[in-house]
Amino acid sequence: MKRVYTAKDIDEILRGGGTLPADAILTPQAREIAAARAGVTAAVSSGGRSANVGAKEYKVPEKEYKWKPGGDPKTPQELEKFFFSPEIEKLKALIVDLGRRSYGKNYNDGNGGNFSVRVGDNLVLCTPTMISKGSMSVADMCLVDMDGNQLAGRRKRTSEVLAHLAIMKRQPMAKACCHAHPPHATAFALAGKTPPRCVNPETEIFIGQVGLANYGTPGTQHMANAVGEVGVDHDCVFMVNHGVMTWASDIETAFWKMENVEAHCYTSMLAFQIGGPRKFSDGDAAELLKIRKSMGMVDQAGLTECTLCNGKDEFRPACVCSAKSPEKTEGAGYDCDAEKIVARITQMVMSELKK
Ligand SMILES: [Zn+2]
Repeated sequence: MKRVYTAKDIDEILRGGGTLPADAILTPQAREIAAARAGVTAAVSSGGRSANVGAKEYKVPEKEYKWKPGGDPKTPQELEKFFFSPEIEKLKALIVDLGRRSYGKNYNDGNGGNFSVRVGDNLVLCTPTMISKGSMSVADMCLVDMDGNQLAGRRKRTSEVLAHLAIMKRQPMAKACCHAHPPHATAFALAGKTPPRCVNPETEIFIGQVGLANYGTPGTQHMANAVGEVGVDHDCVFMVNHGVMTWASDIETAFWKMENVEAHCYTSMLAFQIGGPRKFSDGDAAELLKIRKSMGMVDQAGLTECTLCNGKDEFRPACVCSAKSPEKTEGAGYDCDAEKIVARITQMVMSELKK
């Protein structure tokens, strides 16, 4: 998967006099910074390519945790050594930091929300139950296997890790999950609806179609299965009557998706108060979809026909029909064919009424 460079990454590169790969993907803000400073870097001499911002080779640190397949620690001693190893301690500290940031942004009411990072074939680091995400410490973190059995940690693991594991088991690209209750995105989830498509380019690229998982009692395997089924081809899932789950190859990116979808829901609500967001065309959307694909994000090709940008009713429940796996339609609680028939009948009735 290609790296996405943020404004912060570009800043670090420029300070170090480094260079980005020619095919690097930059966030809009990163592109602006790179373009603004290009005049004083080698970018000018290389034809002004915004990705090339310096002369020296620079490698952005890899955020994804990579383990050796088949190399999981087995004995209690090996597990303990692994759990307190410098690399795992560093990941724990990152989760603590993200917890503070998430809590500070009002995404985690009470003890709400949880984080997880896959650190082995059968090992997942996660947050504990009954703790504020704003006041966690490194010593609070837990280690579980892919079935949720606790292997290490002084506190009990979150019951909702089952939903994280349900995604990880079904989708190998999901190496880290972030669950939270950000108010605006959660408002959509409580209403059983997904935010509008084709109004926000960044959301279109990084989130695509938000998935909807049927309600299940939090912390149960029933809820976990519902989220896991929808999470296979959606890296952002709205859990109906509950909250939001995002996943990525690393935990910072999963959290970034949480920020992205919350901002999209918030601004969409505001836009609807002033006449509604302006939609861009199917052609514009196709270009963004190409960028999404080039970044190696989860393929949602089967969903596009249900979410045409020229559609009128943005707040209808997500039409989650997938050409690949029709059984998923049931899991999400919506029948695409029925949706289309209802839309057609409604249209006929409306035009008859106008006569
Ligand atoms: Zn929750």
